[in-house]
Amino acid sequence: MKKTANIIKLTDKHVARTYGRLPLALVRGKGCYVWDAEGKKYLDCVTGLAVDNLGHCHPEVVKAIRKQAGTLIHVSNLYHIEPQSRLAKDLTRLSFAGKVFFCNSGTEANEAAIKLARKHSTDQGYNNRFEILTFTNSFHGRTLGSLSATAQTKFHSGFKPLLSGFKYVRFNDIDAVAKAVSQKTCAVLIEPVQGEGGVNIPDKQFLKDLRQLCRDNGLLLIFDEVQTGFGRTGALFAYERFGVKPDVITLAKALGGGMAIGAMMATDEVMKSFVPGTHAATFGGNPLACAAAQAALDVVAQKPFLKNVRETGDYFAKQLKSLAKQHPVVKEVRGLGMMLAMELKVPGMPVLNDCMEKGILINCVQNTTLRFLPPLIIKRKEIDTLIQTVSESLSRLES
Ligand SMILES: *Cc1c(COP(=O)(O)O)cnc(C)c1O
Repeated sequence: MKKTANIIKLTDKHVARTYGRLPLALVRGKGCYVWDAEGKKYLDCVTGLAVDNLGHCHPEVVKAIRKQAGTLIHVSNLYHIEPQSRLAKDLTRLSFAGKVFFCNSGTEANEAAIKLARKHSTDQGYNNRFEILTFTNSFHGRTLGSLSATAQTKFHSGFKPLLSGFKYVRFNDIDAVAKAVSQKTCAVLIEPVQGEGGVNIPDKQFLKDLRQLCRDNGLLLIFDEVQTGFGRTGALFAYERFGVKPDVITLAKALGGGMAIGAMMATDEVMKSFVPGTHAATFGGNPLACAAAQAALDVVAQKPFLKNVRETGDYFAKQLKSLAKQHPVVKEVRGLGMMLAMELKVPGMPVLNDCMEKGILINCVQNTTLRFLPPLIIKRKEIDTLIQTVSESLSRLES
C-alpha cells in the first residue's frame, strides 16, 4: 500500500478537498479494466462517471490523440479549426441539431444553453421573458448558472444568492409544468434520464407532452444529455429512445472519448441568436479534443454498436431484476441501455466497498442508490461476475 499511501498523502496535503475520495489511486486503464498503484485490477463500472463509454484507452482514440498531438494541439477560435468543423458536421448529421457551440465541460454546455435561451427570447422581442423551468432531483453542474438550475438544495448550501430566473418543478409531472409556465418563462431544461438524481426515467408520454407544451407556449425545450449522450442509453442520444426532439441539447462527458470537451447544439433557427461576441470559450473545440471526439464518435455512432448496447443493457437490467427478487433489501431496479441503478432500502456504501474489495468499481448516488455505468463494450461474462459479487454483498447486508 506504500505507493497508494504516498499519493493519498500528497492529495490530502495539496489538493482542495472538494471530493470525498475513496482510498484508491488508479494509474492505468485498458478496455473495461483499471489498475491501482499496487497493481490490483478492477472491472470499472464507474467509467469516470459516464466518460469512458468506449472503455479505457480505446485504440482508435489513442491513435487519433497521438496523431493530433504531434500536428497541432491548440489555436484560437479567431481562426478556422479543421477537426472542429469536421466534428460539428458529423454531430449535426447524426442529430436534430443544425449548429454546435463547443466548450469544455457539462456545466459550461449548460451555461451556454441558459445564455442562448435568454438571448433567443430577447431576439424574439421579449424583454422580460427569462425564466427557465428545471426539475426536482436534477443535476446540471457546479458553476453558478448551472448550479442555480440544479434543483437539489444540498448543492446550494453556502452559495446563496443563486442566479435568479429558475423555477423548480416536480419531475415527470406534466400538470405541474403546465401550472409553472408564466409570461416570464422562456425554456424548459431537463435530463431525459436523471443521472445524479438516481437514474430516474420519466414516462415516454411525459416527455412527449412536455414537447407539445413547449411548442404551444413558444418555449425552448433543452435536453441536458451530458450523461445520457453518446450511446449510454442504447441510442446515440437519449431523446431518440423517447421519440422526442428537443430544440437544444447539451453534451460533454463521453463526447471526447476521455478528453475534456463539451458542446451545446441547437437547431439552425435557435442558434441564430449566437452571433460574434455573444459567447466564447478559449479552449472550446480545440484540435486535440476534437480529434479524440471524432475518433470516439466514429465508433459509438455505428448502428451495430448501439444495438449491442441495447441488448447487453437489457441483459444487465434483467440480471439486476432477478437479484431484486432474491434480496428483500432491494427497493427497485431502474435502467435504460447501460445506465442502470439498484435502489436499496439501506445505504449503498457497504455494497460499494465490498465490490471494490473484490475488484469491481461501482458508484452510489442519493445515499441508497447503486448506480452502474459500465463501459459500453462490457461482456455478459463480466456482468455475471458483477451480479455475483453484488449478490454476495446484499446477502451480507441482510444477514
Ligand atoms: C456531470 C453532469 C453535468 C456536469 O458536467 P461537468 O463536466 O462535471 O461540468 C451536467 N449535467 C449532467 C446531466 C451531468 O451528469
